[in-house]
Amino acid sequence: MSYIQIKEDSKIEVPDNATIGFIEGDGIGPDISRAAISVINSAIEVAYKGEKSIEWKKILGGDEAFEKTGKHLPQESIDELKKCVISLKGPLTTPVGEGFRSLNVTLRQYFDLYANVRPVKYFPGVPSPVKHPEHVDMVVFRENTEDLYAGIEWRYDSEEAKKLRWYLRENFQVKLTDDTGIGIKPISKFKSQRLVRKAIQYAIAHRRKSVTLVHKGNIMKFTEGAFKDWGYEVASSEFKDNTITESEFLKGTPSAWRVVIKDRITDNMFQQILTRTDEYDVIATTNLNGDYLSDAIAAQVGGLGIAPGANIGDVYAIFEAVHGTAPKYAGMDVANPTSLILSGGMLLRHIGWTLAADILDAAVTSAYADQKVTNDLARILNVKSLLCSEFGQEVIKRMKQPV
Ligand code: NAP
Repeated sequence: MSYIQIKEDSKIEVPDNATIGFIEGDGIGPDISRAAISVINSAIEVAYKGEKSIEWKKILGGDEAFEKTGKHLPQESIDELKKCVISLKGPLTTPVGEGFRSLNVTLRQYFDLYANVRPVKYFPGVPSPVKHPEHVDMVVFRENTEDLYAGIEWRYDSEEAKKLRWYLRENFQVKLTDDTGIGIKPISKFKSQRLVRKAIQYAIAHRRKSVTLVHKGNIMKFTEGAFKDWGYEVASSEFKDNTITESEFLKGTPSAWRVVIKDRITDNMFQQILTRTDEYDVIATTNLNGDYLSDAIAAQVGGLGIAPGANIGDVYAIFEAVHGTAPKYAGMDVANPTSLILSGGMLLRHIGWTLAADILDAAVTSAYADQKVTNDLARILNVKSLLCSEFGQEVIKRMKQPV
């Protein structure tokens, strides 16, 4: 096995026959993983003609792991994911009563995958609920480790909630009634800034127009508002030569290219993504805002079945379908594998195999343009549907070297 190496500066060194981990996933996971892996392998073959390849290392997770080991995420799987550095993951059922809320959240926290990255753009041919889905071309960077995902909350009748209510009353004159559950929303400078830094680095590397900091700082000044302030601070202190604030920009176009840094309050942002769609590009936001916003943006271009995602830290990264296990379609070979296929495209870009990623994206675009689609979209378009595996083959058939 040729594992990816981590260099001293935390950058990765990718061998030509790289070992990449994959967790098949539950429900439709095995079907979409099979389709996605054959599409990714073919894109690499078309791009590099045997000079590069991926050796896929299957890692147990979810229901299959539970059946074989009695644990949904055994330690050996965590060790393997660590060894592989980069992995692809199908959707996992959230097990009930195993001591943690979700395998996905556990993985994100264990590997400190602090940026949930979700690019959303329109594929012509996909049915959309809006008039101009082609205006959507956004990349959401959602903070992945604090805020909602810190998971700090207590039931109204727990000892902890009682103690906290007492403490707040005695020390801060905050009076909460005895039927009040309590949650804590932690947002730190370090974690906000590393997320915004990643978003700005991405925007600069991909020559994107703007980074919008989305927050609810008018109401929560010291968490959401601080996120915005710390975001602007990163831009001005670390990216002075490549960024400009929106207010400066509006005074006059700069002589050299700059990423415009702006901010929007969350509720306003939800209407702006519909009414002024093409004014938004890269978005950096807190955990809960990002949760809602990324699904709302994905809905404009045809929903979660075709939206890719990645969880990226400073070293490790896990690329995944953003939808769930859709259990009613398990084993039927009818699910839409596009989300996982495009997440594979993101993975290829992440390891620097850009030509293969371009070939993969172009082939998916071409299949959609000809309305070669799985049942989820065929039933809306009223066209013949392809099986999950047939869709994968259709994409592979359309792969070619760019001219
Ligand atoms: P879901 O699995 O995303 O499925 C909800 C519905 O969305 C399906 O019934 C289906 O709609 C449609 N759908 C989703 N993915 C599809 C695909 N690839 N192809 C075709 N249709 C697709 O959401 P859920 O039912 O709320 O969650 C089920 C399980 O997944 C839960 O255990 C949840 O915790 C887990 N989950 C995991 C992840 C993850 O691993 N990242 C994310 C979300 C949820 P129709 O019925 O209309 O055809």
